[in-house]
Amino acid sequence: MTIRPLVAGNWKMNGTTAALREPRLLAGMLRDVKLKTDIMICPPATLIRRVKSVMKGSKVRLAGQDCHAAASGAHTGDISADMLKDAGCVAVIVGHSERRTNHKETDAMVQAKAAAAHKAGLTAIICIGETLDERKGGKTLGVLSDQLKGSVPAGATAANSVIAYEPVWAIGTGLTATAKEIEEAHAHIRAELAKVMGGEGASTRILYGGSVKPSNAAELMGVPNVNGALVGGASLKAVDFIGIIKAYL
Ligand code: PEP
Repeated sequence: MTIRPLVAGNWKMNGTTAALREPRLLAGMLRDVKLKTDIMICPPATLIRRVKSVMKGSKVRLAGQDCHAAASGAHTGDISADMLKDAGCVAVIVGHSERRTNHKETDAMVQAKAAAAHKAGLTAIICIGETLDERKGGKTLGVLSDQLKGSVPAGATAANSVIAYEPVWAIGTGLTATAKEIEEAHAHIRAELAKVMGGEGASTRILYGGSVKPSNAAELMGVPNVNGALVGGASLKAVDFIGIIKAYL
């Protein structure tokens, strides 16, 4: 089965007007490239419309970094999936480990956010991953099973959901999981998705995230069951991000 890969860049809480230079550059670099992968940028909410505008005409799509589970209401500072859709997004990240850690988000909360994304017509990029202690304690696969079971909502399909495997200890640290560790985790996720999503699990994209950069992208993207990357730091500069996208050219 051929699965079209996805490379998504998560800018996190980075970027003001000056940062618009990078998507503008990226759009230029991609102009004559025949892409074999989908590409998304997840800017901070304040820049979604402006990034979309500077990339007008390119195939790069926009995604949010988080959404609230409710469609609207008294939730000061939060953003709903409908709002992201209205701003021009096609997808939203939910359950990023920084949200799980800094905002105490549970699997149930992540599941509700993913369901809200689906209801709004967005693809949910559902993040899972073990901590270093969990890996050292031999709990990685059990943690991934529990997070998948708890975070993927009913009605998830290969079209409306993407799983991002991001070992917490590899995010923003410069440490990457080895190809062998990634292969084991992704094979396990693929098998578990069959239980959680039935037949849809076989064609659902599973991204790897955790210090992906131009120098390791080709190796990591070549691992079985890796269908793209969720990229943090290296998505901030067009020259780095295109270096990762090149793994699929
Ligand atoms: C991320 O934020 O999802 C991520 C993988 O970050 P980095 O690439 O910087 O490790």
